[in-house]
Amino acid sequence: MHQCYYCERIFDSKEQLYDHVEIHSDIERNKEIMNRKKEKERKQSQQPRAKKIE
Ligand SMILES: [Zn+2]
Repeated sequence: MHQCYYCERIFDSKEQLYDHVEIHSDIERNKEIMNRKKEKERKQSQQPRAKKIE
């Protein structure tokens, strides 16, 4: 028995688990990309404010 360490779902075979975990890694990757994008946008919008403080 193999358990997914993301959602704790149980799978009979390693192959099934690997297939399933791919979904999570895709989500994680997308999240990372989204966060990086958000962070970049946030930094860009904060730049004028940072200049005012100087
Ligand atoms: Zn899972």
